[in-house]
Amino acid sequence: MPDGSRTSTPLQRQTQTLWSFGGTRQVTEVCIPRDSDELRRVLQQASSAGRKLSFRSGGRSFDTQSLNDVQVISLEKLKGIKVDVEAATVTVGACDAWGEILRETTAQGLVPHAMATSSQATAGGTLSADCLSRFSPTHGKEGHHVLWFDFMKLDGELIRCSREDNRDVFRAVIAGLGYLGVILKICYALLRLPYKAPDIAVATHFEPFVGIEQLAKKLVEQVQPLHERRGAIASEPELSGAVSAALYMNARREGLIMTSKYVQSTPAQREGKGTVLHQPYSFGHLVLQVLALFELPRIIGFWYTFNIAFKQPQQRDCVDELKGYTFFQDGNDTIKRWGRAIGLPMGTRQQTFLVPWEPTDPDGSGKRLRNFLDDVDALLDARGILPTLIDVLFLPDDTQDGFLLSSSHGMAGFAVSIAFEKIVSARFAEEERALRDLAQLCYEKYCGRVHLVKHVYAADELLAKMYPELQTFLRHKQTLDAQCLLQNEFLQRVFPVAVTRPVRG
Ligand SMILES: Cc1cc2nc3c(=O)[nH]c(=O)nc-3n(C[C@H](O)[C@H](O)[C@H](O)COP(=O)(O)OP(=O)(O)OC[C@H]3O[C@@H](n4cnc5c(N)ncnc54)[C@H](O)[C@@H]3O)c2cc1C
Repeated sequence: MPDGSRTSTPLQRQTQTLWSFGGTRQVTEVCIPRDSDELRRVLQQASSAGRKLSFRSGGRSFDTQSLNDVQVISLEKLKGIKVDVEAATVTVGACDAWGEILRETTAQGLVPHAMATSSQATAGGTLSADCLSRFSPTHGKEGHHVLWFDFMKLDGELIRCSREDNRDVFRAVIAGLGYLGVILKICYALLRLPYKAPDIAVATHFEPFVGIEQLAKKLVEQVQPLHERRGAIASEPELSGAVSAALYMNARREGLIMTSKYVQSTPAQREGKGTVLHQPYSFGHLVLQVLALFELPRIIGFWYTFNIAFKQPQQRDCVDELKGYTFFQDGNDTIKRWGRAIGLPMGTRQQTFLVPWEPTDPDGSGKRLRNFLDDVDALLDARGILPTLIDVLFLPDDTQDGFLLSSSHGMAGFAVSIAFEKIVSARFAEEERALRDLAQLCYEKYCGRVHLVKHVYAADELLAKMYPELQTFLRHKQTLDAQCLLQNEFLQRVFPVAVTRPVRG
């Protein structure tokens, strides 16, 4: 757990200082069950006392999803990774971190289809959020690759959920942010590559662009063929592709489009061919992360990137080890932990908007993305706010999976993430107001959505309209959590309609 001070008390209950990744700090009671039997007892105690609670695994949520001012159940002891090479699956515990899972699977030439960019995020936490991945343009989100999971209800009953068994619960829990019960164990389908670690590498091409129009045009050119070949990927893993864009709001609105694919490359072959961007544990990367927190070094850093580092075509192709490529945000995480350890708030806000993509009209979809980004640009400019970075990636429609609170349920789209960072403050009043206004614009002008996984600043009535399956989700909540024990500040702010009754502290 990345948290601070602990005052031990008996019965596995402790007072701890917990943080959200965004910088919200909460001192609360934390209960740490050692196994599923203890977890069952803890849940039964909470039910009979009527005490509200939240679950927490890796604690990497940006917003307050895994905080609670009364009681947090830490699932940190619930671990166990088992790879089935023949079936190309991995079964993991709620709190197994993705860094560990990847290490176990790549040793067998198997790779999870969709992973978030933090090695410390855990399977239980990311499945509860249905996280997106750099490979989402071809692989979709994490939930799509789940074969089954074991789920403990608040009364302690354990059920297995899959597309065949307890299907309704399966669809409500994935992306349900832990508001229905606990995911204990998960089985994922894996991608089989014809080579193993340490030869699994990722080749990335960096394509600079100038201006939002060029970004949208180039992104659509990349995304359209990926979208078309999605169906073939299971049988031809070399077709897996990642594509995303990073946009910096300098005067020229410059940035990079990154397209990546799996390649076989031994450590010796890729020596000197990597990029520091994908070496999050290296000294150079950490220095860049620190510099990026200050405005002037950030401006100079981006100028260097566009004018020197990626200026020549031969500088634009890199080959990196898979771990560094996948978890490239670990450097940012490390800097935050170091800063907070010396008392700095290290605040961040990051909100993701989904701007719809119409498969039959890629040009129109590109224009919609461009218009949305122009609107973002104009609104932030007018308010004198400069985001640290904006990134964009494509998310396919996952209607077939049926996950009720998935942002891509019923629509494909471009996920546009807008990030702000501060060192000496975790307060972002102006930025939060701007994000709220952008949410309104995203829905009213573009029929888009706010993704619930990172920060969520949007009017609750608007969010209810963005998520048409909310009522079905609420019916499941009423059945699985009739006392509404699973509630916290996040649920109260985002879906107050779900908080059907106040619960004792
Ligand atoms: C550096 C960094 C990079 C990131 N990159 C990405 C990215 O690429 N893509 C992306 O989509 N997100 C990304 N995120 C966000 C992060 O992946 C999600 O917030 C994820 O939910 C965090 O998982 P966790 O294990 O830390 O969960 P926690 O923060 O502990 O919990 C997350 C949510 O899941 C619930 N929960 C946790 N465990 C369980 C369980 N076993 N059963 C039921 N509910 C549970 C919690 O109550 C909470 O609502 C990133 C975050 C960081 C800090």
